[in-house]
Amino acid sequence: MINFEYTRVNSAKAAVAAKSKNVAAQFIAGGTNLVDLMKKGVTAPQRLIDINALPLKDISSDAKGLSIGTLVPNSVAAENKLVLEKYPLLAMALNAGASAQLRNMATVGGNIMQRTRCPYFYDITMPCNKRIPQSGCGAMEGYNRMHAIFGASDKCIAVHPSDMCVALAALNATVVISGTKGEKKIPFANFHRLPGDTPELDNNLQTGELITAVHIPANRFNRSYYLKVRDRLSYAFALVSVAVALEVTDGSIRSASIAMGGVAHKPWRLTEVEKYLIGKSITANVFKEAAEIGMKNAKTYQHNQFKVKMGKSAIVEALTKATS
Ligand SMILES: Cc1cc2nc3c(=O)[nH]c(=O)nc-3n(C[C@H](O)[C@H](O)[C@H](O)COP(=O)(O)OP(=O)(O)OC[C@H]3O[C@@H](n4cnc5c(N)ncnc54)[C@H](O)[C@@H]3O)c2cc1C
Repeated sequence: MINFEYTRVNSAKAAVAAKSKNVAAQFIAGGTNLVDLMKKGVTAPQRLIDINALPLKDISSDAKGLSIGTLVPNSVAAENKLVLEKYPLLAMALNAGASAQLRNMATVGGNIMQRTRCPYFYDITMPCNKRIPQSGCGAMEGYNRMHAIFGASDKCIAVHPSDMCVALAALNATVVISGTKGEKKIPFANFHRLPGDTPELDNNLQTGELITAVHIPANRFNRSYYLKVRDRLSYAFALVSVAVALEVTDGSIRSASIAMGGVAHKPWRLTEVEKYLIGKSITANVFKEAAEIGMKNAKTYQHNQFKVKMGKSAIVEALTKATS
C-alpha cells in the first residue's frame, strides 16, 4: 500500500493554492478514474485534494450560451432540461458513456481530465511513454485495435476515451479554468493535445489549475446526433464515435460541426468535412463523399485497419440519423 495524504477544500482559490504548493498532489472529484489508476499503480499522488465541496454544481444559461459547473455529475447534466432542449447532442453523448452508476459519480471536469484506456498505459509491467516518459510504447507493435488513426506520433498512439468531450468539441465549447493568476478560458479544440514527443501531457492545463466549468456558446444547429460504435451496447469505450451538429434550412446545410472520438489523442474535428458540407443538400451521395473526405488521411496500425471502414460508415450513419 502506498500512503497518501487527503485534504478537503471548500473554495476554488483554496484548491488552486493547495495544488500549486504540491506538484505531487491531484484533485479528486468523483474518483471513478483516479482511484482505479491509484489501485493499479499507474499513478501515486502524494496528496489528494478533494474538491467535492466547491460550489461548482450549477447549470445556467443566458443569451450567450450554457455554463455547466465542473462538479455537475454526468447523469445530472444528461437529464438537465436546458441541456436536453438546447444541446441534445451533449445529452446523447453523456448517456452513451460508461454505466448509469458511473455517470452518477463521474463529474464534468473529471470526464474532461480522464486518462486514456490504452491497455499498455494501465499495465505497469509494459513500457508506456505516457506513464513513464522515454520508456517506449507497447501499443505500437502490440495489440493496437483500440488505437489512434489520426494525429498519433512515434511515441504514442493512445486515444482520448471520453464521449462527452467529442460532443463538447463539436459544440465549440470552452473550458473555464481557475489558476494562480485568475480565470482563463481555453477553446475545447485547444484543450487536449496531440501526443508529439510529450505524450505524458494529455492537455494544456498548467500545474495548479482547476477546471471550474465548461461553457457552450449559443448556436443555430437544429439537427444533431451522437453515434457510438463499441464492442458492447453499454459499459464499453468507443471504437469510433461521431458527433454531428448541423444547421439545416430548406433541405440545405448552412453550417456543420463534426467531431470524432476513438480515433485520436483528442476529440478529432473533421474541419474539411464541415467545409465540404456547407451549401450541400441532404443526399446519400453527399454523406458518402463526406465520409471519404473524413477518413482520407487516416494512418492505421496492424490491428486497427477496420476503423477506416467503420469510421466512414459511422459518419454516414450519424449524418443520416441527424437529418432524418
Ligand atoms: C468501467 C468504466 C467505464 C467507463 N466508460 C466510459 C465511456 O464509455 N465513456 C466515457 O466517456 N467515459 C467512460 N468512463 C470514464 C468516466 O467517464 C470517468 O471515469 C469520469 O468521467 C471521471 O470523472 P470523475 O469525476 O470520477 O474524475 P476523477 O476520477 O475524480 O478524476 C479524474 C482526473 O481528473 C482530475 N480532475 C477532476 N476534476 C478536476 C477539475 N475540476 N480540474 C482539474 N482536474 C480535475 C483528477 O485530478 C484526475 O486526474 C468509464 C469509467 C469506468 C470506470
